[in-house]
Amino acid sequence: MNQLAGELNPSSRILMGPGPSDVHPRVLRAMATPLVGHLDPEFLTIMNETQALLRYVFQTQNSLTFPVSGTGSAGMETCVVNLIEPGDRMVVCVNGVFGQRMVDVAQRAGAEVTVLERPWGDVFPLDLIRDTLRKVRPKVLGIVHAETSTGACQPMDGLGELCHEFDTLLLVDTVTSLGGIPVEVDRWQADAVYSGTQKCLSAPPGLAPVTFSSRAVETIQRRKTKVQSWYLDVTMVQRYWGQERFYHHTAPITMIYALREALRLVQEEGLERRFARHRLHHQALKAGLSALGIRYAAVEGHQLPQLNAVWIPAGADDLTTRRMLLEQFGIEIGGGLGDFKGKVWRIGLMGYSCRANNVLLFLSALEQCLLRQGLKIPEGASIAAANQVYCQQPA
Ligand SMILES: *Cc1c(COP(=O)(O)O)cnc(C)c1O
Repeated sequence: MNQLAGELNPSSRILMGPGPSDVHPRVLRAMATPLVGHLDPEFLTIMNETQALLRYVFQTQNSLTFPVSGTGSAGMETCVVNLIEPGDRMVVCVNGVFGQRMVDVAQRAGAEVTVLERPWGDVFPLDLIRDTLRKVRPKVLGIVHAETSTGACQPMDGLGELCHEFDTLLLVDTVTSLGGIPVEVDRWQADAVYSGTQKCLSAPPGLAPVTFSSRAVETIQRRKTKVQSWYLDVTMVQRYWGQERFYHHTAPITMIYALREALRLVQEEGLERRFARHRLHHQALKAGLSALGIRYAAVEGHQLPQLNAVWIPAGADDLTTRRMLLEQFGIEIGGGLGDFKGKVWRIGLMGYSCRANNVLLFLSALEQCLLRQGLKIPEGASIAAANQVYCQQPA
């Protein structure tokens, strides 16, 4: 290259896709803070605080709780490779892309995987899982709490008890749920849970919070074989994040700053208020979309507030619409993945992105995009419907 690359100057965007979401300005400021060494006593305090905050958002007392240096998928891999030894049986519930990914990860780790399937957009009833556990008697059951490819929310009640009845460990993907809807690790009796920073926590991508129950820790201690991944072996990473502070790898300091600040924002808002905020803006968005005749891809009663997957209306072109939203309004929404490619849009209302400004701007921008493509829609109806939801709230 004989020319200097230009100064970095990305356009400002409103991130309303499946993640990353908009990062709170306070998190960006935390990231501009000078580095300390990763074994500096001050940083060790920051690590402890981050772990305590993670226990708060995960609603757990688990001591083995820390952020893996990697994105959400690294969290998935960490949970799988530590619990699974070659030849172990694992049941994975698949109703979308992320369940499929978990199958792939588990098979690569040497698990003998049984796939339990449901149609995309649907969820798993407890009875169906019970039948499978009775037949397979797996060591681990893997399930996605918030399936980002379909917008479906898996009910968790009774699942932990059911798994333990069959001596099975419960592994849960909460990448899209943590910080947006209740994730109750201890009440669920979940054994291994992972998440990511760039969805409802509204930090950049780069860390994967994980937590392991004492039951999971005992299972890991009883392993006959070494964990196949050196980097993701929690028995070693634990010595780094635990009392010993034994050097394993260099924690991405700036990302820890970011996560700590993002978690502080969650704590300041309070979990209940944060969940209520996600529900409110989802209801306003949903009212607006249904005024335009746009329907949800996930079954009624199990729709995620933070990820609205909707069928693309007839007459609208997927790419044209998303390009107009991006180029004319700076709004990013997501297209469909896998089976839903070209069929759904995924509108995220995650963390800092989950605000009335964004809902109202998006609806009016979408109306314009649809009108320009010749769709017959009742002009202004979506904004009126969303405002009606907002006006029912005390100001
Ligand atoms: C985004 C996502 C992942 C993967 O996270 P990355 O940060 O992209 O690696 C896994 N599971 C679910 C449910 C997700 O939404």
